[in-house]
Amino acid sequence: MSVSEQHGFQTEVTKLLNLLANSLYSNKEVFLRELISNASDAIDKLHFLALTQPDLVKDDPNFKIRIRPDKENHTLTISDNGLGMTLDEANQHLGTIAKSGTEDFLKHMTGDAQKDSQLIGQFGVGFYSSFIVADKVTVLSLSAKAKSAEEGVIWESNGEGTFTSGNVNRDHRGTDIILHIKDSESEFLDAWRLREAITKYSDHISVPVELYEEKYEAPKEGEDDKDKPAEPKFEYVQVNDAKALWTRAAKEIKPEEYNEFYKHLTSDYQDPLTYAHNKVEGELEYTSLLYIPRQAPWDLFNRDNKHGLKLFVHRVFIMDEAEQFLPNYLRFVKGLVDTNALPLNVSRELLQESSVTRKLKKALTKRVLSMLDKLAKTDDYKTFWAQFGNVLKEGPVEDYANREAILKLLRFASTHDDSAEAHVSLEDYVSRMSEKQKNIYYLTADSYESALKSPYLEQLKQKGVEVLLMWDRVDEWLMGNVSEYAGKKFISVTASDLELGDLQDENEHKQEEAAKEQYKDLVERFKQSLGDKVQDVRVSSRLIDSPSCVVAENGNRMTAQMRRLIEASGQKLPDERFILELNPTHPLVVKACAETADEKFNAWASLIYQQALLADQGTLKDPGAFVKVLDSLLLG
Ligand code: ADP
Repeated sequence: MSVSEQHGFQTEVTKLLNLLANSLYSNKEVFLRELISNASDAIDKLHFLALTQPDLVKDDPNFKIRIRPDKENHTLTISDNGLGMTLDEANQHLGTIAKSGTEDFLKHMTGDAQKDSQLIGQFGVGFYSSFIVADKVTVLSLSAKAKSAEEGVIWESNGEGTFTSGNVNRDHRGTDIILHIKDSESEFLDAWRLREAITKYSDHISVPVELYEEKYEAPKEGEDDKDKPAEPKFEYVQVNDAKALWTRAAKEIKPEEYNEFYKHLTSDYQDPLTYAHNKVEGELEYTSLLYIPRQAPWDLFNRDNKHGLKLFVHRVFIMDEAEQFLPNYLRFVKGLVDTNALPLNVSRELLQESSVTRKLKKALTKRVLSMLDKLAKTDDYKTFWAQFGNVLKEGPVEDYANREAILKLLRFASTHDDSAEAHVSLEDYVSRMSEKQKNIYYLTADSYESALKSPYLEQLKQKGVEVLLMWDRVDEWLMGNVSEYAGKKFISVTASDLELGDLQDENEHKQEEAAKEQYKDLVERFKQSLGDKVQDVRVSSRLIDSPSCVVAENGNRMTAQMRRLIEASGQKLPDERFILELNPTHPLVVKACAETADEKFNAWASLIYQQALLADQGTLKDPGAFVKVLDSLLLG
């Protein structure tokens, strides 16, 4: 070693190492999966570079990963002849957590070992899992691009806050990860134990994984055990299938294999919810293997969230996170696509413009939607919806062509039952509609509780009309952008005209007209009193228990929550003017009417209007003024 420098780990790494040791305790053997996975990635990367620079691999063209336990020295070495690392790369990649959002991730830690280990799984701690079984890790590496053996690298750490690194002579490219196995973890020096773990986790790795084990020699004829040489002979034996999983026939692949492959692909710790593996022949040939995770990444709504499929061309790995193959609202889908229809040297820019990409995107989108449709028929859909529902709600607006199919996959809470869980599909809703009902009614509110208490529901409830209840941020935007499902119009229950049609019989019509006439003066008095604070005043037919409510002409107005969000971003919004609807038989309105003194009546009118605003918006612009009016009336 020419120079060796000591470095401190990024503080997050130290924290993570401690967490890891605890939470992966019951599943120690995953370290092997992680290291083999890294080795295979390094080989994939070099394989890709070698497409244009064949000289990089000509001295050692057969890619492989080797696992060598050494009982004497108590070490386990995982070697690959992949891309390797320069000193800078080793310092950077092994001493810091490369992925963005580390801080964010640590904020999500709960202290609950089980939950945290799931998070850790998503995070993909990879290399650091070595310290579960090793009390010291030595990494030797030579980058495939290195000009001389002197650029070799040694990196070492006991996982306790610091590492040392420097240059060392190394005459062959690739990386050795040497684990100094803890005394308590000696089982990982046994070939059978390693073979078991490799078969379980890494069978699908597309390069040979070879294990150094004792050679079995059948006794020759006439020989018995004592004639065998005293020193056992060792050799490397290939353990895995070394055939990329997706190139095999789907019917020969076991669910466990798909699940393990998913973990290799994503660093997720848990099994996926579902997957689909398809080989398509014909004009555009491709194979896709798509997975729906069980849990959303913590940064799903972060704009920098990395997502996309792994792209292979002719089975050669080309790039990670190719986001061009799926629309944004399906960004939670993981997996890969392997096609012969793109050139091996395809770049991200080229991908963007390629008609092959467009065709693949269309086909893969359909594929995912049909996967979800299938999943929707199972109990697992609840899990899916809780994790990814809000992302899917971006779909009907983003993807017009598939709007109907996506709408079918959405779930809502509704007045049909008392559950805040969104589990009602539009199909369910429509199937429960009476013949008289022509439209789909919905309410957007700030929360489930405020939706339930909304005065706008009173009349519809009485008529037995189901209303979809929504309170997610994205709902308002969604409903502002879709107008119908299966030929049925969406109507907000706050719309000035509910278009009740046959839901209102002749009698009710007559009553409504009569009420208009009967309360003309009352309405006029309110109008006079409130002036241009309101757009209009009307007698309401939608109120039963409440004295008043405010509605908007087209129904599609902003909820207070949305308004606050927009205003918080610095945008100025004009004051909204509502139509005030009155329930003329409500005791409060009756009381107001009985008031002859103008001043008193004005106070009542103001109170009734502000109450309606408060019930709808949850806040008032000038609560002080409201309290004053209230006090004046209480004191008589
Ligand atoms: P991840 O693989 O999720 O990025 P790891 O902690 O497992 O995280 O690895 C960190 C980085 O170290 C890798 O992204 C890679 O750049 C580098 N690395 C790890 N193992 C190897 C290896 N065997 N050969 C080359 N580079 C490696």
